Amino acid sequence: MALLIFAVIGTLAGREEPRAQPIPDAGRKERARTGPKGHFPGPAPATVSVIVAAYARVQHIAREAHSRSVIMSTPFPLPPIVYHPAYSAPLSPGHRFPMQKYARLAQLLEKEGLIGPEGLHIPELASFDMLAAVHDPMYVRQVLDVAVPAHVERVIGLPVTLDIVTRSQAEVGGTLLAARLALRHGLACNTAGGSHHAGPKGGSGFCVFNDVGVVARLMIDTGEIQRALVIDLDVHQGDGTAFIFENEPRVFTFSMHGAKNYPTRRGPSDLDIDLPDGTGDEAYLAELRAQIPGLLEHVRPDLVFYNAGVDPHETDSLGRLALTDQGLLARDTYVLATCLPFAPVVGVIGGGYEDIDRLANRHANLHRASVDVWRHGLAGRGRA
Ligand SMILES: [Zn+2]
Repeated sequence: MALLIFAVIGTLAGREEPRAQPIPDAGRKERARTGPKGHFPGPAPATVSVIVAAYARVQHIAREAHSRSVIMSTPFPLPPIVYHPAYSAPLSPGHRFPMQKYARLAQLLEKEGLIGPEGLHIPELASFDMLAAVHDPMYVRQVLDVAVPAHVERVIGLPVTLDIVTRSQAEVGGTLLAARLALRHGLACNTAGGSHHAGPKGGSGFCVFNDVGVVARLMIDTGEIQRALVIDLDVHQGDGTAFIFENEPRVFTFSMHGAKNYPTRRGPSDLDIDLPDGTGDEAYLAELRAQIPGLLEHVRPDLVFYNAGVDPHETDSLGRLALTDQGLLARDTYVLATCLPFAPVVGVIGGGYEDIDRLANRHANLHRASVDVWRHGLAGRGRA
């Protein structure tokens, strides 16, 4: 029965289908409307045992959590998805950062019918004040003025052009919008985000601004949340986020990553799990199951930030953990299904370095898993 609950994806009954339109072009600041039709593939057979186990655990946790929280019904038939046309900024041909994956991901989500009838949610750009609350104000000024010194640009690994600056501000704004949608509806995902190497001093490792860092800081400061848990499963350690919240007890940073991977200078996470090369699906998921429930009990977050980086994949050019596509989907489903009874979750896609189409398909797993848990009522703990 539990299997059926997770595997059966029904059609949306009684809903008028708006006319499908393509993903918006750069510069159009409006919500794209998309058709809800489309085939949504259920979990692959190999993930079933993991998912069933997760669901059994969740049912138990949910009964406890629901007794101490207010449940709201969500008005959306699908979890909100945040996208900005600036996410895929132009880069010179041959640059090793797969910048086009964001637009390709949005197109794929539209094709699979995973975007709700309200369309994609388009964020505002992050402001100087928001960014300077966690990053050196002089660095933020240089970036926004498109005047970053060459040696700083080299550390970032991207040319800091106006397009890249806009993209970086949009990404932070996107994670903020997704976080606020998550508080309201229980679950929401950005189609970018997870720039976790940017730290207090500045950018690094393809990351200009740390979207999760900026957003968690802002939401704590505004009182929107009291405590946050960062679950960072990108294959690289979340060093920037760890440094940003080194002395902030209200944000707990958990990073599980490849032991031999970038960065060489690690940040002081509240909990780091180093995994050996070639870990594989089974050992990886076992480690996750050993950590997440205890963290939720310990931290009792008002909001979980989930970095679902796909670079632990076996064919990723920068990852070394040998996870399969099925393993990554099982991971995302497990994290969402386990966290949601405790707290709203905002998902960001994190890293992934490979062919654009494969990457888009891999990043879509976060959104497929989101739809799955959403349709089974696990995302009901928003606070309206
Ligand atoms: Zn990474």
